[in-house]
Amino acid sequence: MKKILIYSTIVLLIFSSCKNNNELKTENVVKDSVKVSKSEYSVSGTLWYQTSAEAKALYIQSYNLATFMLDKNIKIKSKKRKAVITDIDETLLDNSPMNARLAKIGELYTDEAWENWVKQGKAKALPGALEFFNYCKKKGVEVFYLSNRSIASQDITMKNLLNEGFPYVDIQHMYLKEKSSDKTARRDSILKNYEVILYLGDNLRDFSEDYGQRGDDYGAAVVNDTKNLFGTKFIVFPNPMYGEWEKAIYKNDYSKSDEEKAKLRKEALQDNY
Ligand SMILES: [Mg+2]
Repeated sequence: MKKILIYSTIVLLIFSSCKNNNELKTENVVKDSVKVSKSEYSVSGTLWYQTSAEAKALYIQSYNLATFMLDKNIKIKSKKRKAVITDIDETLLDNSPMNARLAKIGELYTDEAWENWVKQGKAKALPGALEFFNYCKKKGVEVFYLSNRSIASQDITMKNLLNEGFPYVDIQHMYLKEKSSDKTARRDSILKNYEVILYLGDNLRDFSEDYGQRGDDYGAAVVNDTKNLFGTKFIVFPNPMYGEWEKAIYKNDYSKSDEEKAKLRKEALQDNY
């Protein structure tokens, strides 16, 4: 009888401790994930970007498609000279070492961390990029670099691009950010004098502001409405580390607290089955 009583007490204790643990886990899952490391969630995307052969294949696939479409679109009749407009970061230069460093030390992106990385001018060309842009040059198609890197970083950015072997790296072909991250005005000023036959970017805002403010569908409808442009005029590259997609999860507001953002990320996971 005594043995049974001791056994029951142990079972009860184990059960209640499990129950408490489970309750604790459920209640504090968001708080704990922020406490462990506020950038822990970014580890997976950064690892995929840096180590997966699939990421490399996707860059090559996108640049192969860009080459195919360049040969096709170059035949468009126009009195203007032909050009392509390209984004820089995570489209043709790889800045993932900065994201990797931040993820390792448990920190998140800051403008200061970004500027410190940029001023080193160490970003490497992404797979397929040099071949494609030098093919543009060979075909007489000019390349415009339309990027939201700050205008203050123009010299080091040009040095970085030149060191990597990109063509058309001169002031006339650089359109960096002076005030607004909206690229429309800069894009329009290129379009005045050029027939732009392709756009390349890892963020849909590289193509149009229509992909900017995303609602509850995270921009799915506007992508569907413009589906004929993807792969024909717009060439998209993969970026699971950061971008407009993440901003949409935070209801287009990066100023929310780390805890609030962690909560919104969990809420955005679609587990209806
Ligand atoms: Mg980019």
